[in-house]
Amino acid sequence: MNMTRREFLKSAALVAALAPFARLRAQDAAPAGGDASPAAPRATGPITRRTMAGESVSLLGFGCMRLPRGADGKIDRPAAQRLWSRYLEAGGNYFDTAYMYHDGESEVALGEFLAGRPRDSYFLVDKMPVWMARTEEGLKRVFEDQLARTKAEYFDFYLLHSLGWGNWGLAQKIHALEFLLERKKEGRIRHLGFSFHDAPEAMDPILEAYDWEFAMIQLNYQDWTRYRSKEQYEKLDAKGIDVAVMEPLRGGALARLNDPAKAILRQADPDASPASWAFRWVASLPRVKLINSGMGRESDLEDNIRTFSPVKELTDDERGAISAALAAFQRTQAVPCTACRYCVPCPVGVAIPDIFALWNAYKEDGNKRSFLARYETRIPEDARASECVRCMRCTKHCPQKIAIPDELAKIDAEVQALRGEA
Ligand code: SF4
Ligand code: SF4
Repeated sequence: MNMTRREFLKSAALVAALAPFARLRAQDAAPAGGDASPAAPRATGPITRRTMAGESVSLLGFGCMRLPRGADGKIDRPAAQRLWSRYLEAGGNYFDTAYMYHDGESEVALGEFLAGRPRDSYFLVDKMPVWMARTEEGLKRVFEDQLARTKAEYFDFYLLHSLGWGNWGLAQKIHALEFLLERKKEGRIRHLGFSFHDAPEAMDPILEAYDWEFAMIQLNYQDWTRYRSKEQYEKLDAKGIDVAVMEPLRGGALARLNDPAKAILRQADPDASPASWAFRWVASLPRVKLINSGMGRESDLEDNIRTFSPVKELTDDERGAISAALAAFQRTQAVPCTACRYCVPCPVGVAIPDIFALWNAYKEDGNKRSFLARYETRIPEDARASECVRCMRCTKHCPQKIAIPDELAKIDAEVQALRGEA
């Protein structure tokens, strides 16, 4: 990444000609052990680097979706700037924002912070939300807005945002890929990728459409099989596409865990936070080159810097501890139902998402009496968990891969037990 902005913008031909050189130089620039496997011997040092799309990126990316807010609900700029400065100082260089983060304020605040810094000292990352652009004209409007908001002349990494069956269909309709390839030719985008949220099968037509340089997927030790992240990862790996990761902590759930799971991890390493285990698990996958984390608090940032400086590969014993912690976590965890209602109607009329909603609220507040009262008043008798005949029809439609009949059986058993206690 030693091209100046002017050099980079000079011409498309220049961009093409410099690509292999830039790749070589980026590898040279990586700190000792930077792109090596996490198994390499490491001393305490700057944040580990890996090579993504030929660039030396810090493995820890700064996701700018959940920045600190002031009393007025707006981004607390001085607080955000302190976090960003500390991240840079620790060796971080990857700033990931998007059009809708903080209603557009994330792009503006980040642009203000980065303006005036050497352009080759960081990577600016943004994304095209086709559902907000909606038309070819809209693509142009969104892209120009993003450049203006961030005060940038180009984006280092740019993604088609949140693809899946629906958004990829829309992207094709409005020729979003063609639009972005034009911007790439102009030098407004250096590396083009996509972010993805759907069943792995939905990735196939996207992978066939273009030689993507990188892709971002939801990946963590809980979603590996449950969300079919493993299949997504393997598809990208088979194509040689570098993987960036979102949701390494599953929306913070893997940083919070529950008491039994935390106790298992604490016994394995009293000093390591639950979040550090989750990050190291993701970092142990060789195709993963970048892990985004939304670090809105100084304590989270410092903990992450410790984890990544440098990141350490998990031992077999540590992997065992994570498996045990996950099992303990899932024993008391609420059902990861998103209320999409793809699973209904059930042929015998079980009110699946309504039951899961009550159950999840109970798992949060722990109020047995209130749960039982609500269950018996709000769920009609013939729609309760006890009515499930395990026909398995619902499970085929659940994008979260929830074992619905098993969860219903668990809920029914708890309801029976609570009735006995009442
Ligand atoms: S498995 Fe149970 S809940 Fe699912 S569709 Fe069949 S009867 Fe309904
Ligand atoms: S399909 Fe799955 S996630 Fe959607 S409402 Fe049903 S159980 Fe919940």
